[in-house]
Amino acid sequence: MISVMKANYGNPSSIHAEGRQARAAIETARKTMAKYLGASIGEIFFTSGGTEANNMAIKGAVRDLGVTRILTSPTEHHCVLHSVEFLEKQGVAVVWLQVDAAGRVDYDQLENLLQDTTHRTLVSLMYANNEIGTLLDFERVSELCKAHGALFHSDTVQAIGHFPIDLSKTYVSFISGSAHKFHGPKGVGFLYMNADNIIQPYIHGGSQERNMRAGTENIQSIVGMAKALDMACTGMDERRETIESIRQYLKDQLLAHFDGIQFHGDQDRYLYTVLNVSFPPSPKADLILLNLDINGIGASGGSACASGVDVGSHVLTAIGADPDRKAIRFSFSHYNTKNEVDFVVEQLGKSIV
Ligand code: PLP
Repeated sequence: MISVMKANYGNPSSIHAEGRQARAAIETARKTMAKYLGASIGEIFFTSGGTEANNMAIKGAVRDLGVTRILTSPTEHHCVLHSVEFLEKQGVAVVWLQVDAAGRVDYDQLENLLQDTTHRTLVSLMYANNEIGTLLDFERVSELCKAHGALFHSDTVQAIGHFPIDLSKTYVSFISGSAHKFHGPKGVGFLYMNADNIIQPYIHGGSQERNMRAGTENIQSIVGMAKALDMACTGMDERRETIESIRQYLKDQLLAHFDGIQFHGDQDRYLYTVLNVSFPPSPKADLILLNLDINGIGASGGSACASGVDVGSHVLTAIGADPDRKAIRFSFSHYNTKNEVDFVVEQLGKSIV
């Protein structure tokens, strides 16, 4: 990224040598992204991140592809949830699929709903939940959508770079990605759009991104994202092994040191970079995150909403978690160590006991 910023300052839309050099850097990055996703280069559109990509796919599918019904789940990321709520207000039929206590969608309900082909349907279900780590049965949903002629959008933001995805073998209309979830820079991502489902531009202006997304490209971030995906995919197995062992170690240590803890999300098929744990209600539990932060441990929190006015976690609410319990989401990378886990457990002990 630094070398691109220093040496590659041409505008990729300019036809002079500097411009052509910048254009080449972007197209090389696109080729890298396409290679690791099993896509063709014409199906990758760079965006400012996952939020933009998801908005573009969902709203574009309704506006340009005749979608009149969306089947989705209440545990989606807010950028999907709020886009769907917006479209619902515009008259699009929306069905919020049931989820169980582990956050798994009801696949039978999905199949039943797909039998109704009076609507042009978009199914929007995330690959991996960012709060509780529950994984979608991606292949199953893909097969169901294919069999019933529905469009399939998946927010794959948490999965890209952590699970192998081969779009050449999978029926899917749109997926989204965000570089900072696989150690790339923030503020850059992409939309994969299957060549059969090309929508109209979401942002109008210049002819960048083959007229799909106007505006001068964020070239250094695009190059950084492609490099990060290259590193994530080539090192995927090794990184996964490290992260899995640290996640399991934290689980074991928590079970050994604390009473009454619960893990949220599917513990059999899960996003291995996330562990969501909750502690029984206590006055001290409310201060856990603050105490961790003071000691240099960055974790995020949340609890289910007790009432409509609470701004709790919509995911924990949807899975019926106890609103009085304090939930903490730990996330991991291959840079974490077991020593750090020991320190976390020690600090948690001081916060709670
Ligand atoms: N979808 C999921 C599952 C996410 O976790 C996030 C980011 O937290 C997003 C979408 C939004 O991505 P971005 O922040 O790049 O817009």
